[in-house]
Amino acid sequence: MYNCVICRYHEIATKGNNRAMFERVFVDNIRHQLKTLPDLRVGRVRGRVWIDHKSGVDFSDAEEQTIREALVRVCGLASFSFVVRTAVDIDAVRNAAVALAPRLFAGKSAGATFRIRARRSNKRFPMRSRDIEIDLVSRIAGVPGIAPFEIDLDNAEITLGVEVRDEFAILYAESIPGPGGLPTGSNPRVLTLLSGGIDSPVAAYLMMKRGSPTDYISFHSAPYTPPETTDKVTRIAKHLNQFQISGKLYLVNLAEFQKQVRDCCEERFRTVLYRRAMMRIAEKVALAHKCRALATGEALGQVASQTLVNLDVINRAIDMLILRPVIGEDKLDTIATAEKIGTMTLSAPQVPDSCTVFAPASPATAAPLKQIEIQESRIPGYGELIDKIVSEVETVEV
Ligand code: ATP
Ligand code: MG
Repeated sequence: MYNCVICRYHEIATKGNNRAMFERVFVDNIRHQLKTLPDLRVGRVRGRVWIDHKSGVDFSDAEEQTIREALVRVCGLASFSFVVRTAVDIDAVRNAAVALAPRLFAGKSAGATFRIRARRSNKRFPMRSRDIEIDLVSRIAGVPGIAPFEIDLDNAEITLGVEVRDEFAILYAESIPGPGGLPTGSNPRVLTLLSGGIDSPVAAYLMMKRGSPTDYISFHSAPYTPPETTDKVTRIAKHLNQFQISGKLYLVNLAEFQKQVRDCCEERFRTVLYRRAMMRIAEKVALAHKCRALATGEALGQVASQTLVNLDVINRAIDMLILRPVIGEDKLDTIATAEKIGTMTLSAPQVPDSCTVFAPASPATAAPLKQIEIQESRIPGYGELIDKIVSEVETVEV
């Protein structure tokens, strides 16, 4: 039935001079997501991207399903529709509307509400939008087997969309929402600090949705944390990579540093000291792999290390920009996003986290920077230890 998919975008359309770059990256991502279907073509017309079969045939049901699953992972995509694409010719549009009608009304009983929304960007087309709508409604009403329907222009159960463009006309029944945002790859790469929790996978996704592909860095404390800790984060990274073309996972063992903190520093400052070390290590890894910023799943006030004062002290450990896309989110909204992108079930199993190794019974909620610097100065060879840990980072292709 459907011989084409039309992809719509919003934010890309607001771009001026570099719009072509955004569109190119967008198309690259669509091609990447459709790589299991080599018989498809992807092309661009003004303001839209289309997908069809090289040979012009309709999509099979299996292909429709695969395309649907692929496109909901393309950042920058506002919505998409499976369409019947025809020549710019009213008879071709009429035939397509009549052919589509049984599918539109399948399972609907008499009295279902219906409307046609026509748009005509091709001003040379002889009929105006309103005329197209009236013409097609009468033809659809005459299709054998279609139960009588009522017209409701505001709130119809069934909507047939029609668009007459310069290059072709399209007819469609459904607009499927995409993630929105910007195409991944239209901004520089970042390095996301990925734990097994709920927030950091959402942070990674939000960075991709704002155009930045991401690599991941995760800290464990083997042998104090079990292999499950890194297995879990590897699964999450693998899952997140479905939204982008590629992203590597860097695994870091923080245990040696944590032992030093345990032995040399005041207990209540441990978490902030771990965090500052994580930032320092992450900054070095980011620089070595051309990542332009760090991203975390920190949310203001969520736990002791995320009070405003502690975030500030953690921030001051490094020069690199640290982005915190969920900083102001309600936890329930973050959970809803995690569910939508499929990371919630992966984050759910409770496994020990690096941060909880030698965790203080009562962590400081407002660690003074001066005090933290004194604590760090008590760790012999602090800088060398950080460098040693960085030199032992393990890279996982996910
Ligand atoms: P999350 O659900 O993402 O784990 P959280 O609410 O549990 O977050 P914290 O454990 O305080 O909060 O972590 C705050 C942020 O610090 C995380 O979102 C993540 O970006 C980073 N982080 C924490 N632990 C690790 C770790 N073991 N490896 C990498 N990053 C981490
Ligand atoms: Mg956590």
